[in-house]
Amino acid sequence: MNTTLPMNRSADAIDFIDDVALTGLLDVGSPEPQRVRDIIAKSLAKEALTVEETATLLRADDPALAEEIFDAARDLKRRVYGNRIVLFAPLYIGNLCINDCAYCGFRRSNPDAVRRTLNPGEVRRQVEALERAGHKRLILVFGEHARYHAEYIAQTVRTVYDVKVDHGEIRRVNINAAPLEIEDYRIVKDAGIGTYQIFQETYHHETYRRYHPADTRKGDYLYRLDGLSRALQAGCDDVGIGALFGLADWRFEVLGLVSHALFLQRRYGVGPHTISFPRLRPAAGIEFDPRFLVNDEDFKRLIAILRLAVPYTGLILTARENPELRRAVMDFGVSQIDAGSRIEIGGYTEFGDAQVMQREQFTLGDVRPLDEVMGQLLEDGYLPSFCTACYRLGRTGEHFMEFAIPGFIKRYCTPNALTTLMEYLVDYASPATRQKGLTLVQYELDRMPAGKHKEDLQRRLRQIRYSGDRDLYV
Ligand code: SAM
Ligand code: SF4
Repeated sequence: MNTTLPMNRSADAIDFIDDVALTGLLDVGSPEPQRVRDIIAKSLAKEALTVEETATLLRADDPALAEEIFDAARDLKRRVYGNRIVLFAPLYIGNLCINDCAYCGFRRSNPDAVRRTLNPGEVRRQVEALERAGHKRLILVFGEHARYHAEYIAQTVRTVYDVKVDHGEIRRVNINAAPLEIEDYRIVKDAGIGTYQIFQETYHHETYRRYHPADTRKGDYLYRLDGLSRALQAGCDDVGIGALFGLADWRFEVLGLVSHALFLQRRYGVGPHTISFPRLRPAAGIEFDPRFLVNDEDFKRLIAILRLAVPYTGLILTARENPELRRAVMDFGVSQIDAGSRIEIGGYTEFGDAQVMQREQFTLGDVRPLDEVMGQLLEDGYLPSFCTACYRLGRTGEHFMEFAIPGFIKRYCTPNALTTLMEYLVDYASPATRQKGLTLVQYELDRMPAGKHKEDLQRRLRQIRYSGDRDLYV
């Protein structure tokens, strides 16, 4: 065990994952169709499901019932989130790592990994490139290393916020890094972070032990499981959970994620803001058990069932997936995607379109530029959004759940999505994407009832388009 850094769990940390109980819920055969329909109806009434109810949906493998689950997820997504999709990009800061996760190209035992940490000037240049493409929201990604301590993360966040190119700026910085100590979360919170993400990787204890050696920090399952509880105790009330699908039975992981979400909600009065469900990707010299790789059909089911289980939690679909699959599953409940992503350290300026295995954690499935993804989303009738209003106005945590407040989306989210889209169209879009975007903006305006809100929005859209004003959010 690495003893140079503290590892204090919260005083009341508990391991709320009972493998035997969760496996038992999955081992009881196919459910009655009526029971499945009752659970779907509960979810469509926008109530979160219990772990047992989620397990019932997971056992519904009859193709006709699976179709009903897809339809319900589509319906719920449209009703809770509308047609908005929030866009962000990952920025890998450093790949030094003291852990040895068998599935990851950054693991310490990978002799071929080119180790690198961006210096502040290099961070700036990456952010400039991201701003020039039109990004407003980033997630900073770090390996686990003494060098990446809380003050270092906070300083990097401040550097990112400080970079402004023309009309470009980053308005929200999320973090994906190792679990911290309570006082360390306060330091990163003070730098103005959005979501702090930690993926449990696998909730299945035995599998967790297999992939995370006991003599590493990450080998401590409970320290990691408790990681976001400590964040919440420190006042970081915007947290993201996730599982790396492909290590253990995908249905077990879905129950783990739902158990975790319900635990945080019960104990801290606030559930996770987002759930991520990355699928294992090829990476330099990695080891895994191919039996648990998740095929596309099951991947669709897991997204749809997560959507139904936690109606108010954002779902993040990453560029690990290829463009066709991303397009196919978007409608089942995804609310955020990354686009134009590069995950080599320095990849936004240095390596063009090539993916360089020795420099990255794994390979990506979707390397299309942001503008191409925007064009596709617009063609498919989605409203791409770079909105960051809620977190900047302090609308986070237990006092605020945008999706749960009737009328909130229409009143705030759609207008903010439209103004941030207009900024993109004016400042960064190719002519073809601009044309598609302007058509969508007009379509959305036509659907809005006449009145003060609509007039305000039209005024702000004109200011952005013709007067050079920016960042006009409500
Ligand atoms: N080092 C920190 C940690 O492990 O929590 C930060 C995150 S790590 C750089 C980001 C995430 O990438 C991990 O939590 C894991 O889920 C995912 N990941 C690692 N190897 C992967 C692979 N081969 N394919 C897909 N995702 C992978
Ligand atoms: Fe390090 Fe994170 Fe990769 Fe594990 S997943 S080896 S902790 S970077």
